[in-house]
Amino acid sequence: MTPDQLRRYGRQVVDWIADYLERVETLPVQSPVAPGDVRARLPDQPPRRAESFESILRDMDDVILPGITHWQSPNFFGFFPANSSGPSILGELLSAGLAVQGMMWITSPACTELETHVLDWMVGMLGLPQAFLSTSAGGGVIQDSASSASLCALLAARHKASLGTVRQRGVEQRLVAYASAEAHASIEKAMRVAGLGSRHLRLIATDERHAMKSDVLEETIRRDQATGLHPFFVVSTVGTTSSGAVDPTHGIGQACRKYGLWLHVDAAMAGTAAICPELRDVHRGVELADSYCFNPHKWMFVNFDCDCLFVADRSCLIRALGNSADYLENTASTSGKVIDYRNWQIPLGRRFRALKLWFVIRSFGVDGLRDRVREHVKLARELAGWIEADRRFEMAAPVALNLVCFRHSGGEAASRRLVEHVNREGRIFLTQTRLDELLTLRLCIGQTSTQRQHVARAWSVLCDAADQVA
Ligand code: PLP
Repeated sequence: MTPDQLRRYGRQVVDWIADYLERVETLPVQSPVAPGDVRARLPDQPPRRAESFESILRDMDDVILPGITHWQSPNFFGFFPANSSGPSILGELLSAGLAVQGMMWITSPACTELETHVLDWMVGMLGLPQAFLSTSAGGGVIQDSASSASLCALLAARHKASLGTVRQRGVEQRLVAYASAEAHASIEKAMRVAGLGSRHLRLIATDERHAMKSDVLEETIRRDQATGLHPFFVVSTVGTTSSGAVDPTHGIGQACRKYGLWLHVDAAMAGTAAICPELRDVHRGVELADSYCFNPHKWMFVNFDCDCLFVADRSCLIRALGNSADYLENTASTSGKVIDYRNWQIPLGRRFRALKLWFVIRSFGVDGLRDRVREHVKLARELAGWIEADRRFEMAAPVALNLVCFRHSGGEAASRRLVEHVNREGRIFLTQTRLDELLTLRLCIGQTSTQRQHVARAWSVLCDAADQVA
């Protein structure tokens, strides 16, 4: 493709995206295709000769679009949002255009320094502890996902716990980690990937709000220590996936300090709320954390993938994940004056993800971000009020922020029929979970273009369906 063709087709692609976003609201939210439908429309063999860009772009409409579940629809209320925005899309495009490998400072100083700078901004924006600033002993780094961030935190904590003194030899086999029974499945996976095994993860009981019981945590740590095990890592979840519950990070953190454990805070979606000072309570206790992560790619209008991981002491992370190779040696790195983010993550290579985060923060402004988040929280509370007042439904959990959990009052089968019915129909999309062992519908409000009219319509779709499935 020549530069002139890139200009021409690039304009067409940007137009395609803008047209798509303009009409996404009118499309059935969940893709209606059956398994294998998309592949059946693709040729068995790759083309031997170059195809025209026009025909490739045409297949975006004919082959790809029918197989898309429209996460950017304002009527998408499933899982957690993976929202995006114009500035983020364009930042992502520029990142692809520059196509730099940001593994070390020298491989593109701007890639590293912008990331460091914007993550320092985020510390202030979220009211995070000063220890997470790059100018202190800690700092922030962009990871692909909260799953990777939690794994990196776990590896740093393990490294710290098993720093090989004679006394601690053999400690690896005795390491035990803790998270609530409602923590995300990525924590259990991190234990397996780290080679520690999921049987060394204790899932701590939760209270009636589905938040971790910190007294049970402390008791379990004490019992494990008494039997010769080595408790080393605790995850406090700010905004659990099933119900949005906020663990008592402060109490958990105090237990961690008392017994010498690493505290990691997983605020994957809910962390964004802390941009609003009046919602910052979700971060109470975060000053006791050794590490913290949240995903701008969930609720802060930044395209996937973009997770911000902060650590209070970067040396643990770097010692756990850093390595050396002759072919990577350079004077900037050995000077100690620069950050090489390759040592803060598992892969070597890394994209210029800070661009899209920078574009979003500058284009929305902190006030603009706050306005959106406030609106989503307000809408969730309003919807919860409608549900509470309607005998066809019952609430399943308190609404902490933007996630509403409820059931059909006709019971399990009616709730299942309800979610299947509305998703099949396609005007809205929501997902389900289990809370207190009961099937629970989750409606999460966080798409960039979701406004009151969309939530009101979702409510009317649910009311119609509730009568039909009763
Ligand atoms: N942690 C929590 C609390 C989540 O809700 C999720 C996803 O919904 C994750 C971690 C995993 O996020 P990611 O897809 O960024 O790995």
